[in-house]
Amino acid sequence: MMRMQFLGAAETTSGACYLIQSGDRQILVDCGLFHGPEELKQRNYGDFPFDPRAIDAVLLTHAHIDHSGLLPKLVKHGFEGPIYATAVTTDLCSIMLADSGHIQESEVERKNRKRIRRGEDPLAPIYTVEDAERTMKQFKRMVYDEEVEVFPSIRVRFRDAGHILGAAIVELWVTEEETTKLVFSGDLGNLDQPIVQDPTFITEADILVIESTYGTRTHENREGRLEHLADVVNSTMKRGGNLLIPAFALGRTQDLLYSLRVLQDRGDIPPLNIYIDSPLASKATSVFQEHARVFDYEARTMVKEGRSPFEAPHVHYTESVQESMRLNSVSGGLVIISASGMADAGRIKHHLKHNLWRRQATVLLVGYQAQGTLGRRLQDGAKEVRIHGEMVKVAATIETISGFSAHADQGALLNWLRRFRHIGRVFVTHGEKESCHGFAELINQELRVPVIVPKLDERFDVREGQILSTWDSQYHDLQVDEEFSGVVQVAHGDEIAFRGAWGMAQRRFRVENQFFTQFNLGSARHFFAQLALARLVEQGQVDQGTLGLWSAEPVWEQNLREWSEADPCEVVTREVLEPLGLGQTAYYYLDQLPALAATGYTVTNSGRTVENIYAMLEEGLKPQLFSTAHDLKKLWSALVQGEFLRTDTVRLLLAPYQERTDSPKLYVVEGQAPGAHVFFGGAPDATRFVTVLSNGEEAVRSLFDQLIKMTHGGR
Ligand SMILES: [Zn+2]
Ligand SMILES: [Zn+2]
Repeated sequence: MMRMQFLGAAETTSGACYLIQSGDRQILVDCGLFHGPEELKQRNYGDFPFDPRAIDAVLLTHAHIDHSGLLPKLVKHGFEGPIYATAVTTDLCSIMLADSGHIQESEVERKNRKRIRRGEDPLAPIYTVEDAERTMKQFKRMVYDEEVEVFPSIRVRFRDAGHILGAAIVELWVTEEETTKLVFSGDLGNLDQPIVQDPTFITEADILVIESTYGTRTHENREGRLEHLADVVNSTMKRGGNLLIPAFALGRTQDLLYSLRVLQDRGDIPPLNIYIDSPLASKATSVFQEHARVFDYEARTMVKEGRSPFEAPHVHYTESVQESMRLNSVSGGLVIISASGMADAGRIKHHLKHNLWRRQATVLLVGYQAQGTLGRRLQDGAKEVRIHGEMVKVAATIETISGFSAHADQGALLNWLRRFRHIGRVFVTHGEKESCHGFAELINQELRVPVIVPKLDERFDVREGQILSTWDSQYHDLQVDEEFSGVVQVAHGDEIAFRGAWGMAQRRFRVENQFFTQFNLGSARHFFAQLALARLVEQGQVDQGTLGLWSAEPVWEQNLREWSEADPCEVVTREVLEPLGLGQTAYYYLDQLPALAATGYTVTNSGRTVENIYAMLEEGLKPQLFSTAHDLKKLWSALVQGEFLRTDTVRLLLAPYQERTDSPKLYVVEGQAPGAHVFFGGAPDATRFVTVLSNGEEAVRSLFDQLIKMTHGGR
């Protein structure tokens, strides 16, 4: 059995780290630093959720700190194995990790000055420059496209990801009884990105882990972007001001140098005096120059023809602080590219202080500006900003060019995915929540493959490349009968605390159940008819008195038909499904099921398992109501939070569904039909909600009871 755990970049973009366990081997893919909100950054401190000494090897996709930044911590805590990375990634890491170690040391030093004054114990840095240097000894250089046996049962191949120089897609073959092929996209680049090659197309994966940074967005195209850059340069130079570009040291700075060189060679902009004012960017650029042989064709040609974008008489790399400060006295005619990319740290802040108040100057933002950063405030049109404790008037022009991303946008990601001939299942990672989920749904629609957005720390068991389950430690003891076929999900508030999928959705086509699978709700369809009726009562279309008649008796569709004089399926769709946005809930005829719906299986008198369409035809062909765990959760929280019906209506409606139990109040809806058995329900305050959906008839109640006991206690 193989096990995968998502220890970072799950519903967020930073801290990429995936743990693969097979037999007694444990491998990490990436070991990145967390950025962003405090609760994520906290994960950089404290212990790893595994024993670093037990890790056998690390496969590193690329040098960006959100993928490599915790490697020195791993080594500091006892990891002694090899770190596989391309030669460029290795060289870039030797400067990036040392720089990161330096940042950790100085941050802690600053914090400790305060802590000591307050009489608190001093903190230790996550790691030091020395730890970073020690880490470099464990790097093993990989060549693109070459297969390497890491352990007898584990083979690996790095492919060009076209993201930043040296970035790799990782192909990993794990052999147990059978061989499972895993593919980690790493960060994927765009087509036509400067300097780097286009991403390599992969055609086979049993399990694919794909990034989704721009899974729901589209970039400004390349030509438009270059034209825009030329306009900004020309108008600034005409006004006689300086052009300031906050840019990440690795990748973005080199892209800009390349683009400026292309525009100069074309004669679209005049020769410029360009200053790279970031020691880290200067070092990264020199690593690029050492590895010119892995550039794409255009960039290699430029170097060969003596037109290298990185070395020209007018491109200057400032080293000392004095040199940097000298730039402050120049009022116009310079292009200054400096870190950080969001202008919230580094030398760029000095340049902004000395130029923002100048009407002739321009600040050009070429990367993502996070909420709360100086770059974002400028982008949002602030008239005044505080820099180093001083208020500075903003008179300069603020420009944004969005297309400079080193990440594939939605179109490019889909394009890369479409080249696969076989994908078993997909995990979507490395994106903000909306990106991950939006992109997952898109993949599901476009490619018709099972897609999962893993939660942080979520663990998946892969048996024979088939069965997958997920565990939150609280649910470790759950006993799932091997006859059970379906999906379970537990939500704590808005968060999914646990979920699992077992068995086949369609045995004939060997389609497995997955979190998006739609299940027949059986007799629970009447609950939806009741909801629709309650809406009609609230709208005054049906007599208020009907509310008094409410019970959990399953005749509500007939009642709805009588009282509304319309087809109950249509009324439910109009009054419940549409207003609540339940996009995966719909009525289907069993002989016309869509790809995502599970076929029901029932056992005949002679003990044979058959598709339930035969059993259900006996009561005449009528559409069945199908839904997903996701939609039911959405429905429940709207209901108990009073967002769909008035609270007094909800109380009346739910009363007959209350479970007889000593523990806190609990409402449960059960649905049954041949080949369908579902339970959903929870507390009236939406803190806990449990769903069990099955396209079989076995072991459903016991599973639901166990989950209720785990979430609500008692019973
Ligand atoms: Zn990256
Ligand atoms: Zn990344």
